[in-house]
Amino acid sequence: MRAGLEPAVTGAVVASVTVFDERSLRRHDGPSEDFIDRLTGATLEGAVRRGKFLWLPLADTDVVGSRGTGVTQSLAGLPHPSVRLPHPSVHLPHPSVHLPHPSAHEAVVLHLGMSGQVLLRDRRTDDALTRIRLELDHPVLGPLRLNFVDQRIFGSMSIDALVPSGDDRAAGLGSDSRLIPAQVAHIARDPLDPAFDDRHFLARLAGKNTTIKRAMLDQTLVSGIGNIYADEALWAARIHYDQPTTTLSRPRAKALLVEVRAVLSRALGEGGTSFDAQYVNVNGASGYFSHSLNAYGRQGAACPRCGRPIVRDQFMNRGAHYCPYCQRVR
Ligand SMILES: [Zn+2]
Repeated sequence: MRAGLEPAVTGAVVASVTVFDERSLRRHDGPSEDFIDRLTGATLEGAVRRGKFLWLPLADTDVVGSRGTGVTQSLAGLPHPSVRLPHPSVHLPHPSVHLPHPSAHEAVVLHLGMSGQVLLRDRRTDDALTRIRLELDHPVLGPLRLNFVDQRIFGSMSIDALVPSGDDRAAGLGSDSRLIPAQVAHIARDPLDPAFDDRHFLARLAGKNTTIKRAMLDQTLVSGIGNIYADEALWAARIHYDQPTTTLSRPRAKALLVEVRAVLSRALGEGGTSFDAQYVNVNGASGYFSHSLNAYGRQGAACPRCGRPIVRDQFMNRGAHYCPYCQRVR
């Protein structure tokens, strides 16, 4: 989703905002009028991700005359090949968009929850269950529409202040900025983040008195691992979901981290190929569901490794899928 949105939002001006369902603003500190007022007319600086959170930094509007010093956002390869644009044959006059100012102090924050999607459309296209709509004017791509669609309304949009992330590394993927939305500051880096610190993670994991899958789903310890990816990585590493973290050896914890990265990388790759031709479908799980699962959702089917049936246990109001033969508590 981040990769797909980046070229379409970077440098775009928010022409108008429509809130169809205020429940999608419950993480916004203020009424919908406040959300609309602050966002309308703002310039988006890019798309940044940490874990399951995405944010679009807003260029400061009170700074004038700084256009010449703005950052240059490369638009090479733009747009995402599966994004259908209003004018597909548009010739791109310049390969870059100059942003008015590089140091945003607030950002639009998105979380998809269980069922959220961000759909990039032309101005004529509506989507059922659109909760919030942004009309964008992009300096190269022209008028676009961003529909925030969410069936179950566990996802949200909000405007949040950007605060120091606490270290001197980029706060998220997609930007060099050290600033992070306040509501994301407590979220740990995800294992694909270049600034993810393996030794720090392994030390914290070993110090937690919990079980391994609970630890994997704890977004303050490590982010971006959902229920599907946890089950798949545990299956690949042959670790039982209920293995106490205090008895998980360091080599096995390191092996699990390798499998987590493999699962997340594969999911991102397949998410990129599952985009519908008409829009950026940000739910990467759709591609992943189709042909890559070894354990998740396969209860009763043969374990691809040993042939014995996969089992599903109740776990944290959801399920844990595993092979009782390959994955034992040690
Ligand atoms: Zn097995």
